[in-house]
Amino acid sequence: MKKRIGISYTTTNFQKYWDWFTPADLGDDLELIELSFEKNNSEDLYQCDGFILTGGVDVDPSFYNGKPDYPNSPGNFQPARDRFEEKIYRYSQLYRLPLLGICRGMQLINILEGGRLLQDLDGGNARHRKEASDKQHAVLTEENSLLNKVTGERSGYVNSAHHQAVDPGGIAESLMVNAYDDNDVRIIEGLEFKDKTDKSFLLCIQWHPERIPDKEENRFSANIKKEFLAAIRHSTPKKLAVINPATGDLIKELNEDTAGSIAKKQKLLSTTQPAWRQESRERRIEIIRNFSNCLEKEMESVSAVLTSEVGKPLQQSRNEIKGALARIKWLADNAERFLSDETMSSSNGIVEKIVYEPLGIVCNISAWNYPFLVGVNVFIPALLAGNAVLYKPSEYSSLTGLQIEKLLKRAGVPENIFHIAIGGKEAGETLLDLPFDGYFFTGSYKTGNYIYQMVAKKMVPCQCELGGKDPLYVADDIKDIRSVAAATADGAFYNNGQSCCSVERLYVHEHIYENFVNEFVHEVQSWKIGSPGEKEVYIGPVTRKEQLTVIENQVTDAINKGAKLLLGGKRIEGKGYFFEPTVLVNVNHQMLVMKDESFGPVIGIMRVKDDQEAIKLMADTEYGLTASVYSSDQRRAEHILERINAGTGYWNCCDRVSAAVPWSGRKHSGFGATLSHAGLRAFTRPKAYHLRS
Ligand code: NAD
Repeated sequence: MKKRIGISYTTTNFQKYWDWFTPADLGDDLELIELSFEKNNSEDLYQCDGFILTGGVDVDPSFYNGKPDYPNSPGNFQPARDRFEEKIYRYSQLYRLPLLGICRGMQLINILEGGRLLQDLDGGNARHRKEASDKQHAVLTEENSLLNKVTGERSGYVNSAHHQAVDPGGIAESLMVNAYDDNDVRIIEGLEFKDKTDKSFLLCIQWHPERIPDKEENRFSANIKKEFLAAIRHSTPKKLAVINPATGDLIKELNEDTAGSIAKKQKLLSTTQPAWRQESRERRIEIIRNFSNCLEKEMESVSAVLTSEVGKPLQQSRNEIKGALARIKWLADNAERFLSDETMSSSNGIVEKIVYEPLGIVCNISAWNYPFLVGVNVFIPALLAGNAVLYKPSEYSSLTGLQIEKLLKRAGVPENIFHIAIGGKEAGETLLDLPFDGYFFTGSYKTGNYIYQMVAKKMVPCQCELGGKDPLYVADDIKDIRSVAAATADGAFYNNGQSCCSVERLYVHEHIYENFVNEFVHEVQSWKIGSPGEKEVYIGPVTRKEQLTVIENQVTDAINKGAKLLLGGKRIEGKGYFFEPTVLVNVNHQMLVMKDESFGPVIGIMRVKDDQEAIKLMADTEYGLTASVYSSDQRRAEHILERINAGTGYWNCCDRVSAAVPWSGRKHSGFGATLSHAGLRAFTRPKAYHLRS
């Protein structure tokens, strides 16, 4: 894939920046991308290998505590652009990517680094301010500057079209001047980093190299462009390939976070979190409700992104977002009730109360199968309680992670209260090295077990929501076999079986077994398999290519040990990671398919002679996430469920989560709880106060 240069959109002369880069300059390895404050496509920053901050309308004075009125003020500012370009700049520095700041771009960088502006050049306008066309004047480069090295010239001619400039008394501490106007006034014409250790290429210039009439010969345009392009070609950000599982095609390559960028983000979060904690709870709740509104508004676009990278049918992506909205609503509605101080007793002149203090900086390492649902379980209550959050989406749902970050910011979550880390295992390991105040993990047992051990040394809270091998028992007293078969098939195959609480083992009473299995197979056969974007498709591709082998091995192992294949059993040939929905009978607990998490479109159905046998088999697992019983008798169902060591029990339903009750696992399915009052308080530490009046 080509490297990308992100050019910040400007309403004036944007095309000139674009055209400055000829096809010969770009070759077959570089391309340009528009970063537009109007479109707010901040997620595209993660695809860029270098940036240009362009010229244009003056930076809004409120951005740098400038005077609101000054000579030649444009009147209409673009504060959204200032904020958007701040993101570009911060991103370039965090990821050490080359950047060229032109005119306003240079002024903005000086501000962002802590410097000041001259709001109007006054007398200097005669020489610098654009009139009918750009003006021309000489500049002198500073010896020992990067600019001097790049141009190879002590002096040269440049164009001029500005009425603001860097204040000579307000040059940011980290920057140095690399060129002055060649006259007595010595207006600052360029900036660069003073100390270039650990910095990437940065040149700031006050003139417009893209508009200099002899730009292909003039070293103050041509050489700058050449060196900037060389710096981009030499930059080596590690890339994460985002693949569409429905086709196997590359969707995008994203810059991965490095140990350095993650550590910086953690530091920024810890600096800013105290202010967020001091923010009123009402305001935090309001921001989270804004997020919910933004998410609802963007439902179609975010669903499309989710489907593109995880392969779930579009309608299931929409359903996921609707589910997330319902959870956010419950959490926001109940935050006041469960996070407020509680007076526990008041007698003999002593008040005893509990204050729910935020943990601080929470690290959330997450899974790909329901990035919205499992994400909001953690980052919403964490933010509501006053924590800052470092969220690491799975490497298989990074684009969705970027959408989440963007919408949270849009909703009003302040800068440096929520950061995202792009990457896989390596990024996760870095997070484990850093001093977070709590770790909340959703993922496999294997990774959770490792994370728990690593975090133990830190003596901070750690919660793990892990996998499952969830059993479902159909008793002989059900009234409607067909509808139960349809509901349980949905519980097993929804999201292609890639739910932590998917039904993974089915036990059916022998009195109804034959009928049930027939209806079950009939239901599965009725589903449409195909591209997840197509209408009415129920079974799309699995998300991870490697999972095809896991499922294949389980099927082969079962058949080798005597299972009978009623449906499916193999990959679907062609593009993408498709596997036929598979139904196995004559299975037993010696088979992998009845022991290990399948996390795919496969189910084993076992005949049982009575409830006792069902209980014994249901309980025979290392996992403990959910268990279900279908029966006409609630007491019978509850009697069975009481005997199963799982975090959730279902009667006449399955594969569902509600924000009002805790979501928790037992044994290899994890520990701790999200959702409910327990999940709201999971991101706090209760502090006891004994107050004698
Ligand atoms: P996974 O364990 O492979 O990865 C989960 C996350 O951990 C990813 O972000 C990954 O990059 C990161 N990671 C991997 N190795 C790491 C390491 N050494 N150190 C730190 N981080 C590391 O799981 P997955 O494939 O993303 O998710 C599927 C699993 O998640 C299934 O087992 C599923 O049942 C489970 N899950 C559980 C719940 C629940 O609520 N109980 C919800 C969703 C998924």
